[in-house]
Amino acid sequence: GAERTKNVLILMSDTGGGHRASAEAIRDAFQLEYGDEYRIFVKDVWKEYTGWPLNDMEGQYKFMVKHVQLWKVAFHGTSPKWIHSVYLAAIAAFYAKEVEAGLMEYKPDIIISVHPLMQHIPLWVLKWQGLQKKVIFVTVITDLNTCHRTWFHPSVNRLYCASEEVAKRALLDGVEESQIRVFGLPIRPSFCRAVLLKDDLRTELEMDAQLPAVLLMGGGEGMGPVKKTAKALGESLYDKELEKPIGQLVIICGRNESLAATLQSLEWKIPVKIRGFEKQMEKWMGACDCIITKAGPGTIAEALIRGLPIILNDYIPGQEKGNVPYVVENGAGVFTRSPKETARIVSEWFSTKTDELNRMSENALKLAQPDAVFDIVKDIHELACQRGPLSNVPYMLTSSFSSLIY
Ligand code: UDP
Repeated sequence: GAERTKNVLILMSDTGGGHRASAEAIRDAFQLEYGDEYRIFVKDVWKEYTGWPLNDMEGQYKFMVKHVQLWKVAFHGTSPKWIHSVYLAAIAAFYAKEVEAGLMEYKPDIIISVHPLMQHIPLWVLKWQGLQKKVIFVTVITDLNTCHRTWFHPSVNRLYCASEEVAKRALLDGVEESQIRVFGLPIRPSFCRAVLLKDDLRTELEMDAQLPAVLLMGGGEGMGPVKKTAKALGESLYDKELEKPIGQLVIICGRNESLAATLQSLEWKIPVKIRGFEKQMEKWMGACDCIITKAGPGTIAEALIRGLPIILNDYIPGQEKGNVPYVVENGAGVFTRSPKETARIVSEWFSTKTDELNRMSENALKLAQPDAVFDIVKDIHELACQRGPLSNVPYMLTSSFSSLIY
């Protein structure tokens, strides 16, 4: 008879925009490749089922990245393995029941973690339930280069790394070569599958048809020196002698509503589009000629697929630092923290240095890995097939198991 639909639980958290984008990319690729064979649940399990501090990861993350020094300490301070395992063990003992209830509800055959803090607890719960051999657990790392050690757990069935650099770190941390696959960062299929023509997109998005366009953004939260850079571009992309613009500007503020409001209140001499959180990033990127962003892995990987030269103007200490040399050393962009410098580079790219813009665009396309998300879901599908027809996974409520670990 027909095989039972398999349940896939993707564990993510809304810290920034990257984890959700990766989770949705994997969900969409499963649906495109395998249709009804899999039922996908994307869940911020911590937020729904656990108490503080895990249910407020989003708030804490926002607080910490705003106070950069604090985030640096948190990132590096939790790096030695014994510190985070003791910390997580304490949290797990406290919240194990709630996490278990979360897993019970979705009865996953396959669990995919796209978050650095979502390996330990679910894997412990599976172990306590005796389900480690029945449920497939994989981790998809959503950092491009440097990443936190909590991503690496030796008990996963697969660890998907975005780059060889990440794979090297995983090997050093005790993950076996046979567990590791390097396919690239999972990017929403709408980026790689749709055929988008710049002219059509500009009409659809009501942009100027002729002027070269720069996209300015700062991840899902609209972080980094967006406002100063926008103002500087407003000057540098206006030719004072000819009294006309040499370029146009698109600013995507993400969830940063006050940033969008401030920018709306300014006067502009060049064509400017100011937007909040956009659902169709592939269209805005497809309509532009280069991008300015903090070094978020999601935004970088998407820009590479669209062949956009990248100006990196900021990075979150720790996990995003390594993304800077990844872009710069591969000739796909430049790094500068100065809004003035950024504005100057863009005006040159749009006037005297178009050849540099084109070369960087070619390098970006060479680095791009548009098929990564499909490689990942195909590999997970193969893992599932190797297990044979998955019988109903026998999830049980073991109300007393959390006492086991004391
Ligand atoms: N993003 C989006 N709409 C927006 C702003 C951002 O869909 O208005 C997406 C963006 O395309 C990318 C992700 O959010 O996929 C941002 O991830 P990144 O890793 O660059 O940075 P984070 O926000 O996670 O720090």
